[in-house]
Amino acid sequence: MAAQAKIEATPLGAGQEIGRSCVLVTLGGYRVLLDCGIHTAFTDNRCFPRFELLLDGDAPGGAQDGCAGGGVGGTSSAGSLPPGGTAEGGPSKYAHCVDAVFVTHYHLDHIGALPHLVSVLGYRGPIYMTSATRAIAQTMLLDYRHVMVERKHSKAIMYTEQDVLFSLSNVRTVALHETLRLGEGQDLEVTPYYAGHVLGAVMLHLQVFLPDRMKESSIK
Ligand SMILES: [Zn+2]
Repeated sequence: MAAQAKIEATPLGAGQEIGRSCVLVTLGGYRVLLDCGIHTAFTDNRCFPRFELLLDGDAPGGAQDGCAGGGVGGTSSAGSLPPGGTAEGGPSKYAHCVDAVFVTHYHLDHIGALPHLVSVLGYRGPIYMTSATRAIAQTMLLDYRHVMVERKHSKAIMYTEQDVLFSLSNVRTVALHETLRLGEGQDLEVTPYYAGHVLGAVMLHLQVFLPDRMKESSIK
C-alpha cells in the first residue's frame, strides 16, 4: 500500500467563526488557497483573512521555502498588509505566493476578499471557479461595496469598482467534473463536484502524483 505524503491545512480565517473562509493547503510541494472570503461583521482589516500567513516562513511551505511561482519580491514585509502593494508597479510578495486560488461558491464569506488579494496585495496567479460563480460574484462584490458606501463604513471600503473588475478579469472558469491538471508536471489534479448549497457551488478534490507514483489527496 502506498504511503500517504503529508498534507497540511492552515486556516487564514473561519477557523472558529463564520466569515472570511480561506484555507491554505499544501500537498506534494504545491500551495493552493481554498476560498478567499470576507467577514461581514467587521469594517476594518479584521474582515480579511490573515493573508500575512501566506508569507510567514513558519507556515507550511511558506515564503522562506520559496513560493512555487517564484515571484517573491517587492517592498512589503511579512506580517503586514501593504496598502496598494502593487500600485507602483513593483512586484508584490503576494504575486505568486500560492500556485492557485479555488473558490467554492459566490457567498461573500468565500469571495469577498478577492479584490483585496488581487488588486491591493498584488496576487497574480490563477483563480478558478465555476462559470455560475463567476457570473454572480461580480454582482455580489459590487453590491457589497455599494452597501458599504451607502452606510458610510469608510474603513470597510478597501477596494474600488475597478478593483472588483480587475480581480475577476483573471478568473478561469471550470466545469463540474472537469479535471484541471496544473503545475509544471501537470501532476496537480483538481476536480470540482456538485455541492448543493447555492448555484454553482462545488466541493473540490485535490490530488498530486508524486514522482514515485505515491498519491495523496484531500477533499474539501
Ligand atoms: Zn455559503
